[in-house]
Amino acid sequence: RRRRSKREAEEEKRRKVAAVIGEVEQKFSTPTALLRGIADAMVEEMERGLRADPHAPLKMLISYVDNLPTGDEHGLFYALDLGGTNFRVIRVQLGGREKRVVTQQYEEVSIPPHLMVGTSMELFDFIAAELEKFVKTEGEDLHLPESRQRELGFTFSFPVHQTSISSGTLIKWTKGFSINGTVGEDVVAELSRAMERQGLDMKVTALVNDTVGTLAGGRYVDNDVAAAVILGTGTNAAYVEHANAIPKWSGPLPRSGNMVINMEWGNFKSEILPHSEYDSALDFECLNPGEQIYEKMISGLYLGEIVRRILLKLAHDTSLFGDVVPPKLEQLFILRTPDMSAMHHDTSHDLKHLGAKLKDILGVADTSLEARYITLHICDLVAERAARLAAAGIYGILKKLGRDKVPSDRSQKQRTVIALDGGLYEHYKKFSACLEATLADLLGEEAASSVVVKLANDGSGIGAALLAASHSQYVSGE
Ligand code: BGC
Ligand code: MG
Repeated sequence: RRRRSKREAEEEKRRKVAAVIGEVEQKFSTPTALLRGIADAMVEEMERGLRADPHAPLKMLISYVDNLPTGDEHGLFYALDLGGTNFRVIRVQLGGREKRVVTQQYEEVSIPPHLMVGTSMELFDFIAAELEKFVKTEGEDLHLPESRQRELGFTFSFPVHQTSISSGTLIKWTKGFSINGTVGEDVVAELSRAMERQGLDMKVTALVNDTVGTLAGGRYVDNDVAAAVILGTGTNAAYVEHANAIPKWSGPLPRSGNMVINMEWGNFKSEILPHSEYDSALDFECLNPGEQIYEKMISGLYLGEIVRRILLKLAHDTSLFGDVVPPKLEQLFILRTPDMSAMHHDTSHDLKHLGAKLKDILGVADTSLEARYITLHICDLVAERAARLAAAGIYGILKKLGRDKVPSDRSQKQRTVIALDGGLYEHYKKFSACLEATLADLLGEEAASSVVVKLANDGSGIGAALLAASHSQYVSGE
């Protein structure tokens, strides 16, 4: 047989590349009509979750937060924010309506990876020890009234079945945490025992999800905040629901008439989600297969990993990075989303920054310009799908709240603010720009003008401190 000419070989490679990419483009496409369907499915699942249908993927957890901060909160409070790659301890001096946040200090500590998969006691001991160190730095100007116990708002960013505002049991771990013996336990009791072991006298007066904390922190600065969304390592949303629209709520009707619901939307799933073979394979190889399907298509822990899987396919089937598949490309989670973002934002004409990343991370020294452009395109497809799916979720919440349209009575000026937080939203500019454009598109020009998406930078910590304040043991009733 005649040896193939170089040109023929190149042609064939190009054909193969085009075939793989064409397929990815098709699988990852999210036309507006599909997003509308996804928003409707989200609304349906919200309703199912509120009825406590045992098969509902959305837990729609009752937060026991029936009043959001008013501005009157007063005193010295702590917060502890655990849930992603870092955890943070916070101290705020609240000065009431006039002075608001008088002072605020925080410290951020990254969680040693082995603690994310270790034992419950090790994790909580580590946290309590860091908290204890932080409490020691409390300035003398921040006097706590005599004989008062210090109080803490605990932001715990995992699904928790709350039994009160200050207690609740862990339903499952997510986001790469997998610790034996915590599921089913009261996380406040665990933390309190660890604090005792440290000799730290402190009381948890509020246990909140990060979405609920962000909602509280957002409302403190803007009265029109109706929902909060986290797009970070994981993803989730919380919103203010009418208490009488929650069939599963059997407690007394709150005086406010409202209840904040932690949706746990990361676990959303639907037949119509554009779930590809890459998503299935990723899901299968994770710590929590079958769980958090929507989260795995959207959030920061996973986007880089989806890109890696597509690049690996291209390397295998089309020799995109040369005759040998770069061994590092086979390594799970080696491509992190911040690196993906850096590649995606490379605006140099020869994509040299992207090329440098490929070299640093995957060890491929000389990538062709074509391979770099293809990589860029893959980042685009993965980030865009994620941002558009997240926008569909937000649109679903607005629909559930009846805030997706301009009120028929035009004299009623309506403004709806969604507080957003999380590193993915904050730092991945192409992602956040696409999310905002998609949401505006879904809402249509008129309705979009009354919906504001607002970065609530680290609102969840302040929010937890505010809720700790409004649920303080020293505040007598209402
Ligand atoms: C958790 C949520 C959390 C979200 C964002 C998800 O994995 O299940 O409780 O709010 O991540 O941190
Ligand atoms: Mg966070």
